[in-house]
Amino acid sequence: MTENFTGSFTQQEPIPDAAIAAANAVMRHGRLHRYNTVNGEVAEAALLEEEFAASVGAKYCLAVASGGYAMTTALRACGVGHGDAVLTNAFTLAPVPGAIAAVGATPVFVGVTPDLVIDLDDLAAKLDQANVLLLSHMRGHICDMDRLMALCEGSGVTVIEDCAHTMGAAWDGVPSGRWGRFGCYSTQTYKHVNSGEGGLLVSDDTEGMARAIMLSGSYMLFDRHRAAPPPETFAQLKYETPNISGRMDNLRAAILRPQLRDLKTQCARWNALYHAVEDGLRDVPGLSLIARPDKEQFVASSFQFLLLDWSPTAVADVIARCHARGVELKWFGGAEPSGFTSRYDSWRYAPSERMPASDRVLAGVIDMRLPLTFSLDDCAQIGRIIRAEVGAVFQGATAVAT
Ligand SMILES: *Cc1c(COP(=O)(O)O)cnc(C)c1O
Repeated sequence: MTENFTGSFTQQEPIPDAAIAAANAVMRHGRLHRYNTVNGEVAEAALLEEEFAASVGAKYCLAVASGGYAMTTALRACGVGHGDAVLTNAFTLAPVPGAIAAVGATPVFVGVTPDLVIDLDDLAAKLDQANVLLLSHMRGHICDMDRLMALCEGSGVTVIEDCAHTMGAAWDGVPSGRWGRFGCYSTQTYKHVNSGEGGLLVSDDTEGMARAIMLSGSYMLFDRHRAAPPPETFAQLKYETPNISGRMDNLRAAILRPQLRDLKTQCARWNALYHAVEDGLRDVPGLSLIARPDKEQFVASSFQFLLLDWSPTAVADVIARCHARGVELKWFGGAEPSGFTSRYDSWRYAPSERMPASDRVLAGVIDMRLPLTFSLDDCAQIGRIIRAEVGAVFQGATAVAT
């Protein structure tokens, strides 16, 4: 008898009781806007910023409306504007090049390696084309940050990190988001903490963060922020910086604070699920697992593998067979973007030269979500199903070829 998986790949855990209680308290008093406080009260949004900054060892933090907004704000705070070029990953999700386009700039795409990280040789070759790199730690894969920072610092390129998939992760002990001038996080439902929508921005850069706070729409109430530069930093900036409203409200902040306290535990749970799938997929002919370096302290809220150099028909066959058995795989290399877009040639507003080495990788990247509603047994079963279906298609393909 063939076994089928019956779980849902898009079902997250419920919001924890402590977060629901905190949200109820905010709704009862009604002061949802972050600057609507009574005498002596510190807004949930300000407390969240303070706690998140402390958790990653940043001087400053700003809570905003989305991860995308965090990225556009970081770009603006770094002075990126109309007509500028910004380096970014060829393999990422649409909000990343979208953030660059939102400030009127143009993405210059940098290739991806078979380890699913930014191609540092390609980056080195393109460093003279822009002053800023918006680096996406796509799907939680972290590149050699020591080498990346050395390259960028050597060329005067400012790094902004997109940590939508690396909240709680680190490279060589330094948290993701703490290498560049700004770190941007998303608190959208499918990331590592869940407020439906939301984002966080961290930095040690005093002037940059003051600009970001003004940009986010602080109505001259910047002194209500706690993880913020001192008020005198704003003396001049407050006249020069436009208000592009994108604040986080107290309701979302209230939901996030208890989740932040659980983050370490949750990350360990994700990694246990990841290892259960990985163990099930070792030594499958035709399937490559992604190598994870020792220095990469990753958080695996999703799983990737490669079907490198497979024909599109064979890959599509694997996806269809797994789907029929309840295992939802996403083929990032599919020719038509549907449900998601993650490759540079999907973003036709930002044309790029072809990158054959990256195209080879992208054509074979398979992705799967790992929600925490899955058990270790679920992951073992998912592994068995993928193993069987990849095996069946691979054998068939080899039989035809010989
Ligand atoms: C989700 C995501 C973002 C941005 O998140 P939003 O909060 O949805 O704007 C940025 N980068 C990557 C890689 C993402 O997956």
